[in-house]
Amino acid sequence: MKNIYSIFFTITVVASIGLVYIWWNDYQFDKNPLNQELQTKIDKKVKELRIKAYQKFGVVRKIPVIVTDELSSRHYGMAVYTKNDEIIIYLNKKRFKENEQYMIDDVIPHEYAHAITFAIGHFSNKNRGHDEVWQDICRKLDGKRCGRFVNHDDILIEKTNLF
Ligand SMILES: [Zn+2]
Repeated sequence: MKNIYSIFFTITVVASIGLVYIWWNDYQFDKNPLNQELQTKIDKKVKELRIKAYQKFGVVRKIPVIVTDELSSRHYGMAVYTKNDEIIIYLNKKRFKENEQYMIDDVIPHEYAHAITFAIGHFSNKNRGHDEVWQDICRKLDGKRCGRFVNHDDILIEKTNLF
């Protein structure tokens, strides 16, 4: 009997340590800036997209990509055209925690394609910005999720006199 108790005790202790470790990791992730390795992956992807944008669409504009924890959790990313004619891509930091590769391979090109539509002066609300023009750009940027019927709100056009 004594052995069973000690096994049980050991399992409980190990599980508790595991939980604290998971909690601590989450806490660290939430509180700290992205680790250098992840930031490097993001920078590399953005650089590739910038080159493709130039080669395929003649867009030389540098589009800032900002990782933030201020987007609502339903958003993976968002492309914004500001009142001051700036184009900014925001990525949801919380979503990186769950699926880093998806964020890099799918979400960044998806949002970058929205940014390019703004850069070439194509502002469309059709399918919430997921029209044929966006779809074509998304595919040419080698995006993986370029379907026209993506059901989400991920563009914000703050300037009102564009339509
Ligand atoms: Zn979108």
